[in-house]
Amino acid sequence: MSAVLPTYARSDLAFDRGEGAYLVTDKGDRYLDFSSGIAVTALGHAHPHLVKALTEQANKLWHVSNLHRIPEQERLAQRLVQASFADRVFFANSGAEAVECAIKATRRYHAENGAPERYRLVTFAGAFHGRTLATMAAGGQAKHLQGFGPPVPAFDQVPLGDIEAVESAIGDETAGVLIEPIMGEGGMRAVSWRFLQDLRALCDDKGILLVLDEVQCGIGRTGRLFAHEWAGSTPDVMAVAKGLGGGFPVGACLMTEAVGSVMTAGSHGSTFGGNPLAMAVGNAVLDVVLEPGFLDHIAQMGLKLKQRLVGLKDEHNAIIEEVRGEGLMLGLRCKVPNQDMVRALRDQRLLTVVAGDNVVRLLPPLIVGEEEIDLACVRIDAACVALKSDALAQA
Ligand code: PLP
Repeated sequence: MSAVLPTYARSDLAFDRGEGAYLVTDKGDRYLDFSSGIAVTALGHAHPHLVKALTEQANKLWHVSNLHRIPEQERLAQRLVQASFADRVFFANSGAEAVECAIKATRRYHAENGAPERYRLVTFAGAFHGRTLATMAAGGQAKHLQGFGPPVPAFDQVPLGDIEAVESAIGDETAGVLIEPIMGEGGMRAVSWRFLQDLRALCDDKGILLVLDEVQCGIGRTGRLFAHEWAGSTPDVMAVAKGLGGGFPVGACLMTEAVGSVMTAGSHGSTFGGNPLAMAVGNAVLDVVLEPGFLDHIAQMGLKLKQRLVGLKDEHNAIIEEVRGEGLMLGLRCKVPNQDMVRALRDQRLLTVVAGDNVVRLLPPLIVGEEEIDLACVRIDAACVALKSDALAQA
């Protein structure tokens, strides 16, 4: 029996090393990794630029705490600000912590502006914002909340994409609206860009904040640095994580000056957040993602993969019901249980991830090339054939 707490449904695979879009077991078996550690290893495994940045930093300085200035942190914050709507950045170690910071900053903005009664957030059914007590309550999923006592109050859930429901949920105690532009865990469900624009207008009208959770869809995954850029409207606060560290744990909460100015010394903190190692890697990730043409590459590869997947859906319509998502954040809604599909794909040495709504997530590294997309599609085709013959054998 493993001494590790059994909170995950793990496969039996154990990997020894990674090379670009591939993971290799200790027996030398190569798997094409279209899970990227759940949208984390944005530049693939062992990217030379990231390895260099991390090892150089490791030889110099690991940790000093936020009692002192951290030049690499200041640099990464400045670059994120320059590339986004934001004026200020707080660094954390994970997605949930980045969202926690977003929730706290949103509440404090109103408290410091004479409306402490505004502390509630409107969130969306099916959302996922993390596993801390507050982020779990924000996601509002019974399966996550069960057994942990009364959920943290102050989250009002409405159906995704329903602007009238959002409007009716906004009351005198509402501080803001929190949404993932593309729901990852919830089943790769993208809201229309029009919906994000409508939310922006509604928040402005009601004097509340628009808070985005781009933990999964940010840092280039959709072909823009941040997914909301497709909508042409900006939030007040935004959580990012995952891809920003390329595999090194990091989270960040970006905000406008109006919000950032209320987060004064002592209002929030993290011992490890923004430490030199994480910041060196974050800066190295941005070096690559912000290189001219890189985001276009993601958009092109995303389009190619999506077109191929639509073809596979037509060919295997007993297995695949729908192709969803944007850029390199794509999902297959399945007609068979999604766990079976992930297993069948794994048997073909293609790694994917399950999501809600019976979806299988395809999250290739952003450096993925045409050859790997072709290979992934050959393997998806083979997995569908295997699932069909299993079904026939059982009939
Ligand atoms: N928000 C979104 C949209 C996520 O997809 C996740 C993780 O999957 C989180 C928040 C939580 O991030 P973490 O697991 O790093 O705490």
